[in-house]
Amino acid sequence: MKIAVLSGKGGTGKTTVTANLAVNLPGCIAVDTDVEEPNLHIFLSPEINIQEGVETEYPVVDAEKCILCGRCGDFCRYNAIIPAKNQVLVFKESCHDCGGCKVVCPSGAIEYKKREIGRISTGSSGSGIPVKYGELNVGEMSGVKIIGQMKNSVEDEELVIIDSPPGTSCATVAAVENVDYALVVSEPTPFGVSDMKMVVEMLRNLEIPFGVVVNKAGLGDKEIYEYCEVEGIQILEEIPYNRKIAELYARGVLFSEKIQGYNKRFLDLYRKITEFEGRKDSDR
Ligand code: SF4
Ligand code: SF4
Repeated sequence: MKIAVLSGKGGTGKTTVTANLAVNLPGCIAVDTDVEEPNLHIFLSPEINIQEGVETEYPVVDAEKCILCGRCGDFCRYNAIIPAKNQVLVFKESCHDCGGCKVVCPSGAIEYKKREIGRISTGSSGSGIPVKYGELNVGEMSGVKIIGQMKNSVEDEELVIIDSPPGTSCATVAAVENVDYALVVSEPTPFGVSDMKMVVEMLRNLEIPFGVVVNKAGLGDKEIYEYCEVEGIQILEEIPYNRKIAELYARGVLFSEKIQGYNKRFLDLYRKITEFEGRKDSDR
């Protein structure tokens, strides 16, 4: 089973929920796909034993062959290749490596070159949980390739918990695509609810079942509860706004390992998710 943990915005406690869930599920693999700002490893402290570079390709134009027809520029939806008056300009950081410009070029002027855009680290936490996290190099526009490579590497694993990038970007879609279930972590504040609504819309468009974890419960107002009730969204767990939890978080310590009762609450959270899976199977 693949479970993605995501949020409408950063700082809602998404990674805390991912890490606390992972340490309470024997046999799972924890994957941090928030490649622009990975921090799951701060909580799980894995000893890294494999580090691999992730490469992408970008077009290089042979000026001798190019007839400046403009077709590559018309095709590219990312403005990564732009035919100018006397030459074709390539912005390699914007290229999404789709291969299309070479296909449409009528004079065989385009070849591709490889370059590294980031890396994937793999290791094992102190409690024996396999951990993977990706890092996008500074200045790069898209971590989708790194996310895809990480997800492919755990494709056959039984239980994978994926810490997704926040928001509804291409990277978030890449992280949550084809998962079995999504956990949306949100704060009970007007900003939290507003950003969460976009995530809910994205998950519904992708037809991914989901439930909500309210983090910092008691901090804001009741809007999140009213919204979830109206929309028929299940709230699976509430983590209170609590000084002790905040202190442990600030020190990179998992609160479910320090505060009594939370191991069981995270196991219950997983049980609720699997109950959903059971219902889905019986509907087939
Ligand atoms: S490979 Fe695709 S994204 Fe990159 S420049 Fe060519 S058309 Fe644009
Ligand atoms: S499609 Fe090929 S020939 Fe046309 S402008 Fe682009 S590189 Fe040049």
